[in-house]
Amino acid sequence: NLSIANLSVQTTCAYCGVGCGVKATPKADGGFDIAGDTDHPANFGRLCVKGSALGDTISLKGRLLYPQVRDERGSDATRRVDWDTALDMVADKWKAIIAEHGPDAVALYVSGQLLTEDYYVANKLMKGYVGSANIDTNSRLCMSSAVAGHKRAFGEDLVPVSYEDLELADMIVLVGSNAAWCHPILFQRIAKEKEKRPELKLIVVDPRRTATCELADLHLPVKPGTDVWLFNGLLSYLSRIGAVDPDYVAAHTNGLDAALAAAEVDCADPAAVAKACKISLGALMEFYEGFAATAKVITGFSMGVNQSSAGTDKANAIINCHLIGGRIGKPGMGPFSITGQPNAMGGREVGGLANMLAAHMDLEKAEHREVVQTFWESPTMADKGGLKAVDLFHAIEAGKVKAVWVIATNPVVSLPDADQVRRALAKCELVVASDIIQNTDTNAFADVLLPALGWGEKDGTVTNSERRISRQRAFQSAPGEARADWWILSRFAQRMGYTGFGFDSAAEVFDEHARLSAYRNELHDVPRFFDIGGLAGMDAKDFDAMEPVQWPFRTGGSPTARLFEDGRYAHPDGKARFIATATRAPANLPDEDYPLTLNTGRVRDQWHTMTRTGRSAKLADHIPESFIDMHPGDALIHGVREGELARVTSKWGAMVARVQHGGGIARGGLFIPIHWNNQTSSDARVGALVNPVVDPVSGEPEFKHTPVRIEQF
Ligand code: SF4
Repeated sequence: NLSIANLSVQTTCAYCGVGCGVKATPKADGGFDIAGDTDHPANFGRLCVKGSALGDTISLKGRLLYPQVRDERGSDATRRVDWDTALDMVADKWKAIIAEHGPDAVALYVSGQLLTEDYYVANKLMKGYVGSANIDTNSRLCMSSAVAGHKRAFGEDLVPVSYEDLELADMIVLVGSNAAWCHPILFQRIAKEKEKRPELKLIVVDPRRTATCELADLHLPVKPGTDVWLFNGLLSYLSRIGAVDPDYVAAHTNGLDAALAAAEVDCADPAAVAKACKISLGALMEFYEGFAATAKVITGFSMGVNQSSAGTDKANAIINCHLIGGRIGKPGMGPFSITGQPNAMGGREVGGLANMLAAHMDLEKAEHREVVQTFWESPTMADKGGLKAVDLFHAIEAGKVKAVWVIATNPVVSLPDADQVRRALAKCELVVASDIIQNTDTNAFADVLLPALGWGEKDGTVTNSERRISRQRAFQSAPGEARADWWILSRFAQRMGYTGFGFDSAAEVFDEHARLSAYRNELHDVPRFFDIGGLAGMDAKDFDAMEPVQWPFRTGGSPTARLFEDGRYAHPDGKARFIATATRAPANLPDEDYPLTLNTGRVRDQWHTMTRTGRSAKLADHIPESFIDMHPGDALIHGVREGELARVTSKWGAMVARVQHGGGIARGGLFIPIHWNNQTSSDARVGALVNPVVDPVSGEPEFKHTPVRIEQF
């Protein structure tokens, strides 16, 4: 999409799920000017500080540029090889392992940073050809609880609203979301609307007083882990005062009675709920009464909801409160999962999670497996869910999974109980890493390193939090021998002897993905929502010129901004489900040895494990090093001082950082950012501390609640 007028290339930001449009324009010095794309409907030209600094992060410094083999585990030395040698080596080893131990002895661990085309090929390879669903993704750590909540309530993983609904709402409730730092452009859209309409109410539910609270009319600093109490209490209240849409409930839902009965076990009395959530009854009632009195409510939820051992129930407790009043499928209302990564949604579309199949179809349904297998003309099909992220690395340590291929992610830093991941990789027979960076905490364990294309070099699509598919376009040439991830996986698949991987461009992969989404849809008992048949049949030129578009986009139809407008859902009876959600405390609670509760999250100017944002001096200016944020009273009790180093220890590991105050932490809590790693300083990985407990439905880890202790370093 090279415009002759200004040589700018329109692409999409590499970071968060807002999915902002970016224009990259070459400069005389060989660099690129990065600006917001005024034509993109997510951001209309605005970029946050991370997006604006994208140009600082595309240098070749530290890049992995050639395929390499490490002959000796533990050694820093690697040997450059050509692509044929590297891929043959991996294929030979995979064939031998599969022949001896079966298809479940190999695995892919991939990333929401991949483009949809990369994800599609990875998923097809594992589920349709290797015959194992052992492909999981770091999106498991991010929004898999929302996925599971959507599937339970709506019958498919569906986000009902669009960003413009935020501007049509009269009340926005943000739960477990520091949008001001983590989804800044979305937050700016809310702020702008609030400036125009001060009566637009913003309510923030968060144990911390974050930057997002600055704009809030009401901040509910709930005790960590009590969201189900809060929303069960709301459901019960709405029912009790008659704030119910009985026609909507009767015509379009099932299960209200059971959900209400569960809610009323311990949340029928607002005073008891306020006590459980450790907030004032007055603040609780202000929220409940405001919600009941306002038709147009959006409840946005993010990691504070998802990253919990009760994450799926939390998502459903929120959705229940929208269903009871019919606050869904209409302008300015609905539950809204705000996703973390640039392509968490695209990965979900192609079945990037171990328990999903391509095109939103279900692994556990034989008729869905048959549709996908027939379309793929594949020799086999995984018929049960694979290992989810945390379980996968346990299976590697136990010797059940003998080869793992890590793509575009850094699990030695980002997974919970991260020292266990280190042990697992050290024991694994074959570790392959595809990455853009040579040295990461994870790549240190790789036997084979494969150079991938990075942002600005790769070409394909991503889907943002509002179901909008946008193009990421290359605006500079591939460095060294780096290749697109879809190319690497396709050429590997061919070496495994698999047909169906003769892709020569991202456009070809996208076309197959679009065709599969519409394949035999008329034969399903209920029409599936994920259908982008309207985008099938594009040639390379059309694909290059593709404008951002929201799905569903059916063949012969048009893109869809809002779901469920006709009250039909994806369950076989066309109705949504209320889900009964019982309250339960986080899995590990503070005790005498570990008296404080660790919460983890992002800072404004860094991304994930800093392999890219860590290169920008401008971004480092905001917060130059990791920190432990805590209440001054707790610091006094535990003998640590602001500005000094302290060691934080949990049952799973330890780390060291500097103590600070001022982050709005309540007594009993600590906050440590997720980004810093052992490439930046030693003992800096907060992942080493985090308990590996997961939500029983989604498998998402409990990053927001680990008991720890702190002492002087
Ligand atoms: Fe990129 Fe997200 Fe910032 Fe937009 S809000 S520029 S997508 S990091």
